[in-house]
Amino acid sequence: MYHVRTFNKELQPSINSSLRLTQRPAAENDIPDYLNGTYTSRPLITVAREIPMKKEENELVDVLIVGAGLAGIGSACQLRRRSPELSFTILEARSVSGGTWDLFRYPGIRSDSDMYTYSYGFKPWVNKSAIADGDTILEYIREAADEHDLNQHIRYNHKVVSAQWSSTDNLWTVTVTRSDTQSDNEESLIIRCRFILSCSGYYDYDQGYTPEFAGIDDFQGEIVHPQHWPEQLDYKNKRVVVIGSGATAVTLVPTMSEDTASLVMLQRSPTYIANVPGEDPWLKPLIKFLPASWVFRLIRWKKVLLQQYIYRLSRKNPKGLRRFLLNKIREELGPDYDVDTHFTPDYNPWDQRLCAVPDGDIFAAIREGRAEVVTDHIDSFNSKGIALKSGKQLDADIVVVATGLKLKFGGDIAYSIDGKEVDVTERYVYRGMMLSDIPNMAMSVGYTNSSWTLKTDLTAKYVCGLLKKMNRNGYTSVTPTITDKMGEVPLLDFDAGYVLRAQDIMPKNGDRDPWKNNDKYTKDFVNLELKRNKHSELTFR
Ligand SMILES: Cc1cc2nc3c(=O)[nH]c(=O)nc-3n(C[C@H](O)[C@H](O)[C@H](O)COP(=O)(O)OP(=O)(O)OC[C@H]3O[C@@H](n4cnc5c(N)ncnc54)[C@H](O)[C@@H]3O)c2cc1C
Repeated sequence: MYHVRTFNKELQPSINSSLRLTQRPAAENDIPDYLNGTYTSRPLITVAREIPMKKEENELVDVLIVGAGLAGIGSACQLRRRSPELSFTILEARSVSGGTWDLFRYPGIRSDSDMYTYSYGFKPWVNKSAIADGDTILEYIREAADEHDLNQHIRYNHKVVSAQWSSTDNLWTVTVTRSDTQSDNEESLIIRCRFILSCSGYYDYDQGYTPEFAGIDDFQGEIVHPQHWPEQLDYKNKRVVVIGSGATAVTLVPTMSEDTASLVMLQRSPTYIANVPGEDPWLKPLIKFLPASWVFRLIRWKKVLLQQYIYRLSRKNPKGLRRFLLNKIREELGPDYDVDTHFTPDYNPWDQRLCAVPDGDIFAAIREGRAEVVTDHIDSFNSKGIALKSGKQLDADIVVVATGLKLKFGGDIAYSIDGKEVDVTERYVYRGMMLSDIPNMAMSVGYTNSSWTLKTDLTAKYVCGLLKKMNRNGYTSVTPTITDKMGEVPLLDFDAGYVLRAQDIMPKNGDRDPWKNNDKYTKDFVNLELKRNKHSELTFR
């Protein structure tokens, strides 16, 4: 959708500045063929800007955490709890914390994981509802930060651009761009650290993924991407088409359809949708007898085992699970509804992420005639709406393009070791968190088939264990090192579009432990938590 062009301005950074590539909307004379494309808005172009370098502050911290989202805050809390002797700083590119849960503001935004597994292990989820809305999750994350006195450690508007490791000093020298939101000024500064814990999420904050749609400029209505929801968007009594069938689309549909004149969820192909209870059935009976923190732990483990059982079933008996899920939808929508066309994917459950909907709210919207699902292909946009390949026309005042995220690896930080650039796609992932031959660096990345936080909690605890061992023994570096023969297998056993689109930016995955990315919490729990002092194929110096 967007054209990205680098203008070959041969700027060289002076000694007191650094070069930074930033994006801005193209001016018409920047791109002569600007009007030939099918753009919803001006394409972004990449331009080189010279950013003044602030005098080196000579600041040194033990741990530098990149990102103040769910993972960054959770990891800092763990660091506070387990290694209070270590100094740390959290650098956050945006002006607020919360990451995903602050950025996305579309109507009805909520978790699609249950909050017993999506919350931090150290901060019990004590709300009645198993699924939470975006504001509640944001409040929960910020409450954790307050409770661990993190706010004094977070520096907002600090974007980490690059990190250089020196084997002589055993330190990272990290280049950071600090922006001043008031004056639009930027400056570069340097922070040194012993260990980097990157909690930068997995997608591009600037733009979501939008496929190319022919004729989109002809559309007279409004086009909206859920990642940049206009605060003032008035969809009351409007005709709305939501393009997509993933978690975002199935969240938007029931909420918006309360107010719209008509709402169509337009999908190219269906996704598996599972109806889950908004309140866990164990909660009421257990809370009468047990303290809330025990109830949380029991339900959390029940959910972990249930999620894992369902995932295993999807690998071992995909037909059985498929039949079960589709029968549940038939029960919701009645015998006359065309479940085969609109809710029967052409892949097996969990080959792509399964969408959970609380108390069947999307099915209620369809049953009550507030929303309709159309399964078809887009031919082109026109002034009134969307022409479909079947010949049908969908007229609309607003089109919501819920077509997903654009993946980004590791916050786009350029790593180098002793002056040599690191190509992360050539490195193997160690225990799902470190990279081969990169010292003192870990990344916090969650599960795709289960709650994100289950893995990021384990990662933070494992890293705290490593740091403790280093402190205890006077080591200054820890490096994952491949010491035996190893083959390669795909990193993610998952063929969602956004994963497939990002394969060429991902590191490699080994075919044996501890280099094989694991998607099972119980196995990680044993390897990373119970056996956290086992450090095979790590070189400590
Ligand atoms: C709408 C939506 C709903 C979701 N629902 C669920 C769910 O129910 N269950 C689930 O398991 N997962 C869900 N996910 C996945 C979700 O992103 C994760 O669960 C989780 O919020 C990610 O947290 P994070 O802290 O790792 O990353 P993020 O939330 O993306 O936060 C990363 C932070 O790092 C900052 N950052 C990035 N790069 C840099 C840099 N170079 N320098 C400084 N700062 C940087 C960013 O500004 C951001 O604040 C959902 C995702 C979306 C988009």
